[in-house]
Amino acid sequence: MVVRVGAALFFLTAGVALAFYTVRPGGVSLTCYLVDREPPQVEIQAPTGPVRGRVTVTVGVSDNCRVGETRVYLDSRPLEAALPQLDIDTAKISDGDHRLTVEAADVSLRHNVARAEAVLKTDNTPPVLSVPANPVSVKQGEARPVEIVSNEPLSRLEFRWGDVTVPVTANLSGLAFPVAAGPTDPPGTRRLEVAAWDQAGNEARLTVEVRIQPGAFPIDYVPVPLGLTSLLDPQVLAQEERYLAGVFSQVTWPPGWGGSFRQPVVGPVSSAFGSRRSYAGGVLSAPHLGVDLAVPAGTPVIAAANGRVVLAEPLKVRGNAVVIDHGLGVYTAYYHLSEVRVRPGQEVRAGDLVGMVGSTGLATGPHLHWELRVFGIPANPLDWVGPNH
Ligand SMILES: [Zn+2]
Repeated sequence: MVVRVGAALFFLTAGVALAFYTVRPGGVSLTCYLVDREPPQVEIQAPTGPVRGRVTVTVGVSDNCRVGETRVYLDSRPLEAALPQLDIDTAKISDGDHRLTVEAADVSLRHNVARAEAVLKTDNTPPVLSVPANPVSVKQGEARPVEIVSNEPLSRLEFRWGDVTVPVTANLSGLAFPVAAGPTDPPGTRRLEVAAWDQAGNEARLTVEVRIQPGAFPIDYVPVPLGLTSLLDPQVLAQEERYLAGVFSQVTWPPGWGGSFRQPVVGPVSSAFGSRRSYAGGVLSAPHLGVDLAVPAGTPVIAAANGRVVLAEPLKVRGNAVVIDHGLGVYTAYYHLSEVRVRPGQEVRAGDLVGMVGSTGLATGPHLHWELRVFGIPANPLDWVGPNH
């Protein structure tokens, strides 16, 4: 009797199994079909930041038994998809947040379902750039920050001023870009070309017309003491200028010159910016590219703004020299020092001691020759000094 029941159960089970394997719904094992309670695993790999144009999303669906039907929805509308890759042309949908839903079921009797969601932030609209202070004008020998603002956060900017191209990679909504006209740059209109990319990569371009107006510069008659005249050797001058031009041409980030400058020493101007010199009554020199401040030897010289010392060494014409990089092409230089109190590479804050006033190099008496360079272009540093120095 027991044997018969046992045999009957055996044949029944075997029969059900045989029937099942003939049909094999979804091709899973009987155990999977009957007892699986675990839903599939669904994973969406979508870009997190704003995106534009065609976007590829990867969808991973797996199950401990077997995956059945998988459906994809964008903002609850079904999407045709050849998984695991999902190609979405975001240019065909509005800018903003879009919900991507993936729904997958397994082939078990319980039909376990799993769902995953991701948000696609789409943006196919270029940023709108503007210049609040338009029109822009600078005088010869003047440097001025030109403020560029965007209606949305930017990931990258590129500026072209003259033959200088400056790329800026940072998350910002605007930037003050310094433009300068040298004392001998011809008056007229020059263009500041701006290109900017939002976080999705949409590009915008803007041209800022900058009017360069004539500046007025005096003539100084400078006696050169015997013994210093050899320093006027054009080759010595040219070599030192090339060396410094290499220093001033480096563009670093971030800018540390925001706000106004501290004046490195306070004293009368003995030779103005842009003045042309007649050495020992001779022919007119090139314009004076800095401002001379007449103060006693040993007067402490402070850094005009935050930055990093990029040069601190004796030069033939300029004597003991310090150059500070304030970022985004802005440099200040301090010449003829009796003592240098900073090292190359040192970070300085506005007001930090950089050295002492002296008369080293080509100087007829103690004074500080102070320079401002903007992408190598010399401009009057006194224009950047705030009311409280
Ligand atoms: Zn000078």
